[in-house]
Amino acid sequence: MRTAELVEIDEHRLLRRLDDLAQRGALPGGGIYRALYTPSWTSAMELVTSWLKEGQLFPRRDAVGNVWGRIEGSRGGRVIVTGSHIDTVRGGGALDGALGVVAGVEAVTSLWENHGRPTRILECVAICEEEGSRFSTNFWGARAIADRLEPGEAERARDGDGTTLADAMRAVGLDPANVASAVRRDIDAFVELHIEQGPVLDENGPRLGVVTTIAGTTHLEVTLRGQADHAGAMAMTRRKDALVGASAMAVEIADLATRMGDPAVATVGTIAVEPAQVNVVPGLARFTIDARHPENGRRTELITQIGDACKRIARERGLDVEMRTLRDRPPVTLSPRIADVLRRACAAAGVEPRDLASGAGHDAQMLSYAASTGMLFVPSIGGRSHCADEATLAEDVVLGTRALATALRELAYQP
Ligand SMILES: [Zn+2]
Repeated sequence: MRTAELVEIDEHRLLRRLDDLAQRGALPGGGIYRALYTPSWTSAMELVTSWLKEGQLFPRRDAVGNVWGRIEGSRGGRVIVTGSHIDTVRGGGALDGALGVVAGVEAVTSLWENHGRPTRILECVAICEEEGSRFSTNFWGARAIADRLEPGEAERARDGDGTTLADAMRAVGLDPANVASAVRRDIDAFVELHIEQGPVLDENGPRLGVVTTIAGTTHLEVTLRGQADHAGAMAMTRRKDALVGASAMAVEIADLATRMGDPAVATVGTIAVEPAQVNVVPGLARFTIDARHPENGRRTELITQIGDACKRIARERGLDVEMRTLRDRPPVTLSPRIADVLRRACAAAGVEPRDLASGAGHDAQMLSYAASTGMLFVPSIGGRSHCADEATLAEDVVLGTRALATALRELAYQP
């Protein structure tokens, strides 16, 4: 294995910019909310654009609002890209997505300042949306780049207030009829730095992880129909309580994933009952399941077990059960070639990285349809993420960004 030289970055600029970005969309009670095409999102994108201008990286906004910076390569060819998403969940933290955006700008700026023109075209990108932060359009930005938007999606998707995605786009000066122009077919490699969002690196080290696969995600909706009855008059033995059935299922679903073992996960994240009155036995319960595993065979097995368990419990309790698949995304294997580049960059930083499967979804998984992709993880303190307590040691933020810059140097400065 060749040993690379660790690339220098401006760590004060990096940390200051992370702090500045965290102000855009900061909520009064703590946490951040930058939802797609809202004023906090616009403000964050304007900030990123100002950094790109400052670094002479010629900012450009594409048809869905992804913001790109670029250095032309002396030999041209297919493009090397780094970046992550700018949007956050409601009450999210300062690093999910933001780290990859700020570190990407920093790595490219530092390379330009210290190493001059690359041979390959080098770009950084702030991707407009990954989280489903306002519409249920997860990976909207990366899917636009990878040509995976569905026809009419912008007209169909609505936020909680009923505003369509298309109208939200128009409000920030984007034309929904134009989304196809965001497609890129000239990207060779995409590299994303991200926080782990789980406890593995923080608890067991090392300080850097190379992602090999991203778990497949299945979302199911289960509707249980029993019988609404008087909470005082109907005997316990004669009830068909849909919520009690749903509760038994939620416990069983968690047990199934636990028994399958790490990294299988299954979560009942929402539940609603009808008629939802204090003195009525719930006649209907509807809940969602999120189930993930990085191996496709195991994921399918988990889904089958969950389906069988729900049917069995429904039968035992005299309930009708209906299961609907809301989303089914297969696991994604990231590029072994880029993983090797990242391992060499980690070695240059004096770290022997750990290979990890990501349970969380990432832009890199969508961009793997358009390019060879790789991901580098830094530890999340206590494994916390999607919350105000999301944090990573400053020294790990700096280390990860230097490793990212080192990987980009290998990719974009080949003679
Ligand atoms: Zn993220």
